[in-house]
Formats: sequence, C-alpha cells, structure tokens
Amino acid sequence: MNSNIEGLGGHEQETVLALRKKAASLGFIRIGFSLPEIPPFFDAFVAWISGKRYGDMDWIARRTELRENPSRLLKGCKTVISLAFPYSATIPVTPDGLRAARYTEGLALDYHDRLRRLCKIFAQHISELFPGSRHRVCIDSAPILERSFAYAGGLGFIGKNTMLIIPGHGSYVFLAEILTTAEIPFLPVVPLESQCGDCTRCIEACPTGALEAPYLHDARRCLSYLTIEYKGLLNDKVAKAMGHCFFGCDVCQEVCPFNEDKGRKEVILPPAQDLLRSSEEEFNRLFGKTAFARAGFWKIRENVRAIFSE
Ligand code: SF4
Ligand code: SF4
Repeated sequence: MNSNIEGLGGHEQETVLALRKKAASLGFIRIGFSLPEIPPFFDAFVAWISGKRYGDMDWIARRTELRENPSRLLKGCKTVISLAFPYSATIPVTPDGLRAARYTEGLALDYHDRLRRLCKIFAQHISELFPGSRHRVCIDSAPILERSFAYAGGLGFIGKNTMLIIPGHGSYVFLAEILTTAEIPFLPVVPLESQCGDCTRCIEACPTGALEAPYLHDARRCLSYLTIEYKGLLNDKVAKAMGHCFFGCDVCQEVCPFNEDKGRKEVILPPAQDLLRSSEEEFNRLFGKTAFARAGFWKIRENVRAIFSE
C-alpha cells in the first residue's frame, strides 16, 4: 500500500492507516490519494483527442472539462482516492483453441459490478471516519483520467504501452476511483517516473502498430478496441493480427518484464464454434453478466467468425 504518512500527526496517521487496512481487507493491492486538480498528462490527452485516436468512441472526446476538473463530478470534492485491484493472470481459453483477454477472468461476473460493490463498502468506511461526507465511485462510469490519478497517487508509473505499471506487481490490475468530500489527511507523493528504460518490447510486439511511439496509443489500430468497441466489420488484416484471441488483446502486457509470466492456460470458456451456432438468448444466458456482454452477441460472433475464416 502506498500513500505517504510520515509527517502526519498521530490521529491523521491513524486515519490513513485505517483506510489502507480497509482497502487491503477488500482485496485492493494499492491505494493512493491525490487532490482533485488538473490530472497529470491532461495536455497529452487533449492532443490525443485532437488526433482523433479514439476511433468511434465519441464519448471519450465529450465532457473534456469534467476530465480536466474532477471537482465537477462531485461538488465539494476534496480528495481523489485511487485503488488497484488485481485480476487473474490465467488465460481464458476455449476447448477449440481460442482465447480472450485475461481481465475477463472467463465467465466471472463483470468486474464493474464486483468493483462497484467493493468500492461502496469502502465508501461506507470513509463515511464512518468522516461523518457527513459524500462520495462518488467511478469505475469506467465517469469521465475521469483514471491512470493519471493512479499515477498522481503514487500507485505506479505509466509504461510505454500506456498502461499503469505497479512495480512488484505489473499491470494486470483494474483501477477504480472514489471521489470524496472527505478531506483525507495525506501528503502528496512524488509520482513514479517511468521505469521502462531502453525497453521497447511492447512497441515491437504490438501486432497492429497501435503503439505509435512510446506512450502514444492509437485506439483505432488497437485490437482491444477493434474486438470490443468497434462497430464495423473486421478486415482480413485485423483478423490475422488477432491470432487466436477473439476478445481484447494482452500482447503489450504479456511481453512486459514487469508482468511475471503467470499465464497458466485453463479451459474455462465454452467452445467458440458453439458461439457461431448459439442464439442471442443463449449467449445472454451464458455471458450476460460477464465482461463479454460489453461487446455483445453480434460482435463476439463476428470476432470468432473473423478468426475461423483466416
Ligand atoms: S492491446 Fe494489443 S493491439 Fe492494443 S496496443 Fe496492446 S498489443 Fe497493440
Ligand atoms: S514492455 Fe518494456 S517499454 Fe513496454 S511498458 Fe513494459 S517495460 Fe515499458
């Protein structure tokens, strides 16, 4: 757990320690605090938007003023709490040889629902320490630069693959933020600068060239975007680049030396061929509460079809 407590008074230290302890008891591996100010890398984000690298995820380009000033997301916000929750390094595979991104954790309940429940318990704890305080839990649900705040809170550094990397753990984590009106006593940490050094493994390994340059990601070319968010049909070039992964892409994380190779394969998904034959109702019954629901029936079928037609 990070967050600097040296220099705080006894009672203040107790408060921060109580929050750390609660976060750990809920399974979070890091917690950090920052002020609701203009987040680090905001200018780079604006340049990224100007370059239209978000593809057809128009919602990213909207409400820039909220991303610039998180206080607008919660009136009276005094502290941004960043939390990291690890996900399994097991690779979800199908018996017929396809795979999906690790973060899906197979048929597990969608992480948004799981993390929201944990964050609400955590927020309740803040209310006990700061009676009358108000909170807003953000898990991909509000326009906030989550990696920037995680960086500002000292959780990790931003790698050349643009992921938040936690030294000693890696990048296989979900991030969550809790905005709160509680004035949590913390001393700002010095954010961790990139520890990538001369390494360029992620840039070289990216199958589509979506990592245009160090720290510059073009979603329009990224398989995570193309296999989940993109509404159009996948062309042959993309299908080839997907290899056997029909949902998301882990390549730029798998090659990163900060991620230990913990990828033990396990058959936990139904056969992909069945997806081509199943009805939308069957799909929803099986995948409706999982991360795969984000892409939906037709998109997943299109992804599987694209791979098998290669
Ligand atoms: S997720 Fe895959 S396609 Fe996207 S940048 Fe990383 S390696 Fe490239
Ligand atoms: S693969 Fe190398 S360059 Fe890319 S994020 Fe990891 S350490 Fe940095």
